[in-house]
Amino acid sequence: MISPRGRHFFANPGPTNIPDSVLLATAHASVDFNDPAFFAIYQEGRAGLRRVLRQESGELFLYTASGHGAWDATLVNLFSPGERLLMISSGYFSETWAGMAARLGLEIQTVAADWRHGADIAAIERALRDDTKGMIRAVCAVHNETSTGLSLPLPAIRAAIDAARHPALFLVDTISSLGSFDFRMSEWGVDAVVGGSQKGLMLPAGMSFTAASERALAAHREARLARGYFDWTAMLGRPHKSFMGTVPVTFFYGLRESLRLIEDEGLENVFARHHRLASGVRAAVRAWSGNRGPELFCTNPERVSDSVTTILMPEGADAESVRTIARERFNVSLGGGLGALGGKVFRIGHLGDLNEAMVMGTLAAVEMSLGRAGIPHGQGALDAAMAAFGD
Ligand code: PLP
Repeated sequence: MISPRGRHFFANPGPTNIPDSVLLATAHASVDFNDPAFFAIYQEGRAGLRRVLRQESGELFLYTASGHGAWDATLVNLFSPGERLLMISSGYFSETWAGMAARLGLEIQTVAADWRHGADIAAIERALRDDTKGMIRAVCAVHNETSTGLSLPLPAIRAAIDAARHPALFLVDTISSLGSFDFRMSEWGVDAVVGGSQKGLMLPAGMSFTAASERALAAHREARLARGYFDWTAMLGRPHKSFMGTVPVTFFYGLRESLRLIEDEGLENVFARHHRLASGVRAAVRAWSGNRGPELFCTNPERVSDSVTTILMPEGADAESVRTIARERFNVSLGGGLGALGGKVFRIGHLGDLNEAMVMGTLAAVEMSLGRAGIPHGQGALDAAMAAFGD
């Protein structure tokens, strides 16, 4: 192993690169979280987050917790013991979210799916139509399944719920999509949105949130699951209407800067950049897949993710060998396979503070690592990526 020199290329699908100006903004001395000067910055951050979420009504609850905390908070605040959720299977994160709900005493019905292709919308509608007794309280979808590199078409799922005339709440995890590709809470009729700080928002990990619609707030008033740290009713009684105890003030100095970066670039331009970079990565993987090399895990062109690409190794080849060489020899960090996909895939994160040159550096390191690991692969991946970036 040689000592890593130069910049560490961080190509994980979250946490993501933190822009220098955000890092500097978070380096802030402690302030009283009840100080009016901080409260103004706090309110500005909440309002900005609501703009990114496209949330027009309801409440936004923030927590000092990673995304798992926001999952937990959303479940305990909306449901009562024994109630049923319809979870759309998409990969490791839909399974983990369902597992947490089961541990909290909820019943899970799953819409099964081929993880390489994504769930069938008609199957979601069928499950809701078949629920003649109205047992399903919510439909849960992971907008961008970070383990498989597959995104779900949320407006189509909303349309399926409406077509079945089902009153279920619509819960969406946007942890690896928010601020990277299009999401519109109010327009798409989403009732509870789970998000986190460490991906498209380009902040450190440790703050997460739930945006709740008016319908979700009404469901909360009936919900009977036990809750302590994450109780929305208790939060609503506090001036910050979020958090229990100390507010993590430094996040809000960072958030002010990350929102400035996002809004200066413009959300539409942020999305276009993510799409361009993702197209380059996908073009490279398609080239590698020649000569029986690694291929795109997601086989559905309409659902490929613009924030992460999951790459399936040829039969018998170990993805971890490629990751290890990339890290130790080239100082490039790639994402690994999660759960059942461990060792079978690796992942390139292409979200957040990123440009073409950084993606090219990562792709070059992956290609050199494939070569050193003795993995067969097609040629021309870097040229294909550059061509896909366009002018
Ligand atoms: N949901 C999705 C889609 C994720 O990608 C992740 C983490 O990567 C989580 C939930 C869990 O978030 P955290 O690791 O911040 O707890």
